[in-house]
Amino acid sequence: MAAIVLDGKEIAREIEEELKGRIGDLSKDGVTPCLAVVIVGNDPASHVYVGAKERACARLGIRSLRVDIAPDAEYGEVVSTVRRLNEDPGVNGVLVQSPLPSGMDEISITDLIDPIKDVDGFHAQNLGRLVQGDVSGLLPCTPAGVMRMLERAELDLRGKRAVVIGRSRIVGMPQSLLLAQRGVDATVTIAHSRTADMADLCRDADLIVAAVGSPNMITAEWVKPGATVIDVGVNRVADNSEKGYYLTGDVHPDVLDVAGALSPVPGGVGPMTIAMLMSNTVRATEMQH
Ligand code: NAP
Repeated sequence: MAAIVLDGKEIAREIEEELKGRIGDLSKDGVTPCLAVVIVGNDPASHVYVGAKERACARLGIRSLRVDIAPDAEYGEVVSTVRRLNEDPGVNGVLVQSPLPSGMDEISITDLIDPIKDVDGFHAQNLGRLVQGDVSGLLPCTPAGVMRMLERAELDLRGKRAVVIGRSRIVGMPQSLLLAQRGVDATVTIAHSRTADMADLCRDADLIVAAVGSPNMITAEWVKPGATVIDVGVNRVADNSEKGYYLTGDVHPDVLDVAGALSPVPGGVGPMTIAMLMSNTVRATEMQH
């Protein structure tokens, strides 16, 4: 039997509806949330992502402010831009779009953002709270979006085996913490490029979250029948189309025949990430007022 498709677009729409109510309450107090996005350089994928964020802001009535910085700008210009946005009381959320040009350290830039405006949830203080088991603050958007997707699917993860493939600061590691937190209670294995017997690990899992960046890596043979599979990966594969590429995830399409539930690419985790960014922007605005 084919897996249930976890429709990220639909869940994101529901989250946006809920946010509209909270944005309406803020506007009664004369407050309009404002998200500032700093983009350094001309990475085409970054421009696509920033465009999607701006459109989401427009749908919700969140003010969006975009600061474009030239690819050959000095590190100091990025630092002074972040400091200026931190100090601006009209700006509630600040993010610096990844990737930065080589030579610019993303972690030190992230740690310059005022933690209460850190809508990506990557500041050491916000990630540290997550390690302490406090999930009430600004959480990294992609893993938080995955959690909302799993909640919406009413999946009981207590005592279940989860394998998170990938251990990045922005996806894999916080995802693992969120799955292992009290109340969710999954037993989590974190896999990475040095993991041995990956297929065996996955075959034992009730939940697989793939956040690698390797097209179609997780095949049907790796998946236990009925398991839930969340595909975080976004890979551009070259083809002869007008665009010159198509998007695919880390999970092979054949997994649909084996899994109990599967998030598609596109239309799965991607829209959830944007919805959680909007949610963090509203949350940050509420915390600041
Ligand atoms: P990343 O920083 O490059 O991390 C990739 C992780 O995958 C690393 O931990 C790496 O292990 C591991 N890995 C690499 N090859 C592997 C292999 N053969 N077997 C097992 N693990 C392997 O990437 P990221 O930022 O976490 O993003 C991961 C994917 O998610 C990318 O495709 C990205 O585009 C996508 N993404 C999607 C969204 C969304 O909204 N949908 C958001 C963020 C990211 P090591 O640590 O050992 O190197």
